[in-house]
Amino acid sequence: MLADAASAGLAQAELQFQEQLLAWHAVHVRPFPWRVPEPYSVLVAECLLHRTRADQAARVYSSFLRLYPTPAALARADSAAVRTVLAPLGLTWRIDLLVTMARALVAIHHGCVPDSRPELLALPGVGSYIADAVLCFGFCQPMALVDTNTIRVAGRYLYGAAWQGDMRKNPRVAAAVRRLIDAERPVASNYALLDFGAMVCAARRPNCGACPVSARCVYAERTAAGQVDATRKGVSY
Ligand code: SF4
Repeated sequence: MLADAASAGLAQAELQFQEQLLAWHAVHVRPFPWRVPEPYSVLVAECLLHRTRADQAARVYSSFLRLYPTPAALARADSAAVRTVLAPLGLTWRIDLLVTMARALVAIHHGCVPDSRPELLALPGVGSYIADAVLCFGFCQPMALVDTNTIRVAGRYLYGAAWQGDMRKNPRVAAAVRRLIDAERPVASNYALLDFGAMVCAARRPNCGACPVSARCVYAERTAAGQVDATRKGVSY
């Protein structure tokens, strides 16, 4: 009986989070140029954003797409020329990967970005996060983007987690991220969660005072009660 009530309370908190976050995001959306429903643009953006801040990626993204607007154009490119365009971002290893990936798209997928997870994961340089981002933002499939930022938000909101170590290996937290995404509106919901994690529930200092979901946040509740120790490890979920 108690377990039923707890799980109903959790489901209600998740639903409330989805609705309040979308309402917050309607006012606070970050208008990045790659936020278009076009799979190749999304794929390029996600490769550029890998270990790179969004503002840095934004500086080269548009000129890159002007020069290489399709997988075929990128597949034909000279790697040295691509390197020149992307040099400001560093991480030169990914430049060759981008060209190799474009050549695979041309050779295997007729120059199109595939819409299945196994086919995306088989491309050079594409891991789970990039594959899910392409499926969601490029093809509007109901995927949840699980990374350190979304896990941090879910861990704090649902479980009061203070520790910001690598929680990706914990299947309960990854599942929690999925439950915070509205499957009917996956694109808006994922963008909202990403922006919220960057702007409000930030890694070093969450701005709980300006948070639209603080009323049901376990982390905020525990902080108010003096129960959060940000140095503690081994949080159980
Ligand atoms: Fe994050 Fe604080 Fe909002 Fe909780 S109240 S979700 S910890 S910003």
